Amino acid sequence: MNTSDVLIIGAGVVGCAAAYYLRKNGVSVTVLESDMIGNGGSSRNGGGVRISGRDPRELGICAYGVKNIWPTLSEELGIDVEYRQKGYLVCGYDDSHKRLIKDRINTAAKFGIKMELKEEEEIRSLYPYVSEHVTCAGWTPSDGVANPLKTTLGYYIRARENGARFITGEKVLCIEKIKGRARKVITESGNVYEAESIILACGYGGRKILNSVGIEVLMQKKLEEVIVTEPAPRLFDHMIGGMSGFYGQQTEHGSFVLGSSCGRETYLFNKSNTVSTYSAPSFICDSIGVDIPALKKLKVIRTWSGWIDRSYDAVPIIGNIEEVPGLFVSIASSGHGFGPGPAVGFILSELAQGRPSPVDISKLHYDRFDYVKYQDRYFVSDVGGSFS
Ligand SMILES: Cc1cc2nc3c(=O)[nH]c(=O)nc-3n(C[C@H](O)[C@H](O)[C@H](O)COP(=O)(O)OP(=O)(O)OC[C@H]3O[C@@H](n4cnc5c(N)ncnc54)[C@H](O)[C@@H]3O)c2cc1C
Repeated sequence: MNTSDVLIIGAGVVGCAAAYYLRKNGVSVTVLESDMIGNGGSSRNGGGVRISGRDPRELGICAYGVKNIWPTLSEELGIDVEYRQKGYLVCGYDDSHKRLIKDRINTAAKFGIKMELKEEEEIRSLYPYVSEHVTCAGWTPSDGVANPLKTTLGYYIRARENGARFITGEKVLCIEKIKGRARKVITESGNVYEAESIILACGYGGRKILNSVGIEVLMQKKLEEVIVTEPAPRLFDHMIGGMSGFYGQQTEHGSFVLGSSCGRETYLFNKSNTVSTYSAPSFICDSIGVDIPALKKLKVIRTWSGWIDRSYDAVPIIGNIEEVPGLFVSIASSGHGFGPGPAVGFILSELAQGRPSPVDISKLHYDRFDYVKYQDRYFVSDVGGSFS
């Protein structure tokens, strides 16, 4: 039977978490995934669980997750998701970075989050592995890391065990309304599914589906890459990043998992493969070697890549769609949706049950963009890719 209380489109961390929390409340759930479980960014990301440096509009959700979900998630799922809350060091190189870090400290303070500015002398003594190039840094003790694959699959395994129905290889083409309410979903293979509420959590793929109910949300799709080094003796436990755009962690196993918005990202439309390029990994290495010279000596043993769905303001779109009652979305997580993923899944599960979000999400509404103002960026964006 293809009818359930809630239908979820996309089995990433958000879709799997929403399915898990809905089943916990006895709600019947079907999850439709066009590919494999966790095929999107959810199993391909750097594992950063960060509150710092976030836009104020999404800070509430991130703080909710770090306070209420992450610390007990391994226990709740009975699967070690490798969550470690050991802080996040963001390296800066000049006075403009120092000013930016101070701004972030003020923003974080408004949400009760502690963040500190580290001056040069302190950096040299506390973090001896960063180079002289680093002259200031932001330190957020409540930030951390987790294992993306274990988190996403952990939610999937428990949701399925508790009765959620997952169907892979089932690509959703459109949503149909009945009496003005989102009700039916039609897939590429011609199957029809029905539900009282629909949660759309399928990244860039959500754009066309929203079009089918008359909603337009422009997004950019870019391929970002990650490198993994050979295992090395422990250098640090915390997450690290730089104003040059790199970020990463040393895993429990000893390998470094590092990524970077290094300017070599690929923007390929109408293409879905996630084959790594040759150029991005070497740019990632160059940028990280400047800040952490010891890493230059390590061999890169593998790379991977994943698509990022980015909105115009690089802030996610989360919440209900007033014009289409019964439809709830989480799309355009803009390359930083893993950390808040569990909280977003929980919030969507609450909305789909007719309950309010436990944190304010009103500023993440899909209708916040002034596309006329942004029209110069319709075809070429500030980071080189097109919005479509
Ligand atoms: C290289 C890289 C590094 C990153 N690093 C970090 C980080 O350190 N910290 C952080 O917080 N975030 C990071 N991110 C971002 C993070 O991975 C994503 O924001 C997050 O995983 C999004 O989760 P999601 O569940 O919304 O979507 P996704 O994981 O993208 O899942 C969406 C799912 O929907 C499916 N789908 C798509 N279209 C359809 C359709 N028509 N029908 C049915 N199913 C469909 C897809 O196959 C996919 O499985 C990174 C991303 C990348 C690529």
